[in-house]
Amino acid sequence: SLHASDIAHSMHPYTNMRAHEQQGPMIITKGDGIHVYDSEGKEYIEGMAGLWSVAVGFSESRIAEAAYKQMLELPYYHSFAHKAHAPSIKLAEKLVEMTPEGLNRVFFTNSGSEANDTVIKMVWFMNNALGRPEKKKFLARNKGYHGITIASGSLTGLPGNHKDFDLPAIPVIHLTCPHHWKWAEPGESEAEFTARLLKEAEDTILSEGPETIAAFIGEPVMGAGGVMTPPEGYWPGIAELCKKYDILLVSDEVINGFGRLGTPFGCQKYGFEPDILVTSKQLTSSYMPLAAILVNDKVYNPIADNTEKLGTFGHGFTGSGHPVACAAGLENLAIIEEKDLMGNAARMEAPFQAMVQSFADHPLVGEARGTGLIAGLELVADKASKTAFSPIGKVAAAVARAAQDHGLICRSVYETVALCPPLIINESDIERIGQRLGTALDEGH
Ligand code: PLP
Repeated sequence: SLHASDIAHSMHPYTNMRAHEQQGPMIITKGDGIHVYDSEGKEYIEGMAGLWSVAVGFSESRIAEAAYKQMLELPYYHSFAHKAHAPSIKLAEKLVEMTPEGLNRVFFTNSGSEANDTVIKMVWFMNNALGRPEKKKFLARNKGYHGITIASGSLTGLPGNHKDFDLPAIPVIHLTCPHHWKWAEPGESEAEFTARLLKEAEDTILSEGPETIAAFIGEPVMGAGGVMTPPEGYWPGIAELCKKYDILLVSDEVINGFGRLGTPFGCQKYGFEPDILVTSKQLTSSYMPLAAILVNDKVYNPIADNTEKLGTFGHGFTGSGHPVACAAGLENLAIIEEKDLMGNAARMEAPFQAMVQSFADHPLVGEARGTGLIAGLELVADKASKTAFSPIGKVAAAVARAAQDHGLICRSVYETVALCPPLIINESDIERIGQRLGTALDEGH
C-alpha cells in the first residue's frame, strides 16, 4: 500500500522520522476550494493554505490549463546567456508593476530558500564590485524564517534549523525578536520596547562597524517562527538605520506578499521601502514552485557593471524562470486580481481576527494575535507569568492534532498554533474554522 511504501522509503521534511515509522502518513488525495481530502475521503478545511501559500484555493483549473498550454508549446527553456521566453518576461514585468515603486528588476529561483541564498550572493557580489569587500554581514532576527539552505538557513533564527546542522555558516547577527508580548521587559511599554530594539540594532551596527554590515533582512510579519506582528514604529526605525549606515534593507515577503496582510505587500502595511523584496508561495499559489527577487537600481547597477567587467553573472538555476511555473504564476496573479482576492483578504480581516480574538480568554491561550489573514495562538502553561508548556510545542502540537481530527488543518510552530487560510475564505468558512479550533482547544491538553 501507499501507506506502507511511504513508511519504508520516504524521508519527510520537518518530521520526526522514527515517529513517522510508527504512525505513517496522512495521504492527501484531492483539493477543492479551501478544502483538502485524505485517502479515507475525510474533508478538512486547509487553515494553513498548504504551507502559507495556496491563495486561490485548491481547485483553480485555469492555472492547470495555463500550465498545460505552456507545456505543450514550450515545456522548458532557460534564461541563461541572453535566452528568454514570454512567460518569464511577462511575469517579471507584472511583478515590477505590482510591487512598490523603484523595484525595477526581477530574478527568478525555484524556492524561497534559493531566493534568499541568491540575495546573499547578490549583496556580496555588489559590495565586492563597489570595492568594499569587508561589508558582508547580515542582520536578521531571532525567530525569523528565511529558509533552510546553508546560507538562508543561517539567516533563519530558529534553534531547530541550526542545531546539528552546523549553522549559522555565514556572518549573521540575530537581533531580538520584535514581539512585545513575549520579549518586552516587565513593565516595558510597546514604545519603550521599540526604542530598545532600535537601540540594540544601532549599537550592534556600531560595535560591528557599519562598514562590515551589508544588509538587514526581515519578514514584515514573522510567519514560520510563530506569527509575530511588529510593534508600532519598528519598521520605519529599522529603515532609517539602514539608510543612515548604508545598509540594504531586504523585505522577505515569501509569506506576506500578495495580500496576506490585507495590503498587496507587507512593507506597504508597515511603511518602509525595501531595496530588495523576496516573494514566493502566493506568487503561484504553490501550484508550481517559483520565487522572485525584486531589486532597485541601487542594487542592480553595481551588479550589472560588475558582470560587464567579469563577463557574466556566475549565478542561476536550471529552473530560474521556468516557463511552466511562470505561466502558472501569471494565471494565478490574474485570478487574484479578477476575483479581487487581496480586497477579500482585507475585508475578511475583521471577522477573521475577531474569531482569533474570541480565544484570547481561553485558559490555554497566552496571546491571540495576527493581522490580515494570518494569526497565531500562543499557548501557555500559566497565563499570568506567560510560562510556556514543557516540552516546548507539545501542547500546541496536541491542539493542532485535535483540530485535524475535527476537520481543520492548522500548524503548530513551537508553542504557537498558526492559521493562514486561503485568501478566498468567506465569513461562514471563518465561523467553521472557529468552531473546529474551539473544540480542539478544549480537548487539546
Ligand atoms: N522566507 C520565508 C519568509 C518563508 O516563510 C519561507 C518558507 O516558509 C522561506 C523563506 C523559504 O521558502 P522555501 O520553503 O520555498 O525554500
